[in-house]
Amino acid sequence: MELWVTEYQTPALGFACKARETLRTEQTDYQHLSVVVTEQFGKMLLLDGMVMTTEKDEYVYHEMITMVALNSHPHPKNVLIIGGGDGGALREVVRHPGVEKATLVEIDERVVKASRDFFPELSCSFDETKAQLIIADGVKYVSEHKNSFDIIIVDSTEPVGPAVELFSKSFYQNVYECLNDEGMLVVQSESPFFNQDVIKMAYNGINDIFLLTRLYLANIPTYPSGLWSFTIGSKVHNPEEIKHECNLPCKYYTPEIHQAAFKLPAFVQTIIAAGE
Ligand code: SAM
Repeated sequence: MELWVTEYQTPALGFACKARETLRTEQTDYQHLSVVVTEQFGKMLLLDGMVMTTEKDEYVYHEMITMVALNSHPHPKNVLIIGGGDGGALREVVRHPGVEKATLVEIDERVVKASRDFFPELSCSFDETKAQLIIADGVKYVSEHKNSFDIIIVDSTEPVGPAVELFSKSFYQNVYECLNDEGMLVVQSESPFFNQDVIKMAYNGINDIFLLTRLYLANIPTYPSGLWSFTIGSKVHNPEEIKHECNLPCKYYTPEIHQAAFKLPAFVQTIIAAGE
């Protein structure tokens, strides 16, 4: 009997992967968590039935949610990641030569545990000396810290459950105050094909607060529609201007991709223009 894992990306669209076995399935205090071995993408982490990350394509998302800000900020010494309990974004941040400290605030310790148990290539940095792992609500954390970070990365689930507040204007205002004078905020802002409202909420919320706001894109096969967006708010520096020609070995990110990612298709320009 064949086993398939399906993510219902919209009420009318499913993304199905042939699966070999289920390694874990549990209801945590915040969400339903499962780890499945798929034939096409290897191990897959799902939260509330949504694909979070897979062994085979995680590098695209984790390089792109980190390297664009890290390489366009002049001194990305102190970085905060909200969410990101799988550890992939943290892995990228701690390997950047400009970073001195990386703090990760994840609300659900069971996500960290699942990553430690099944995704060693993602959870490898939790115990790095540069890294600090805190199990807490990121909304509360940023409200309690002022002028503390050069870059804040919101590697959250979509705006459901504990992540709803992470897309609010009040949260972005608190992030602004939690950043230093030249700070940058990066958020994952979902799919231009299926989540235009989320993109508008994130882009407009950030654009009302930060001097510079940009949207950029990457191709992620296991995310809804395969085209994913990130929204970056900056107090001073233009995120399209590369300041570090860092020679880190990457599988997706390059200086050319950094600049090309900001070149938006017409329909995406229309999405963000609507709110400006
Ligand atoms: N790359 C994935 C995506 O784009 O959907 C996100 C990966 S990561 C697993 C998302 C994490 O955000 C989850 O582990 C979830 O527990 C965490 N999260 C959600 N709301 C949070 C909050 N308020 N504070 C801290 N972490 C939160």
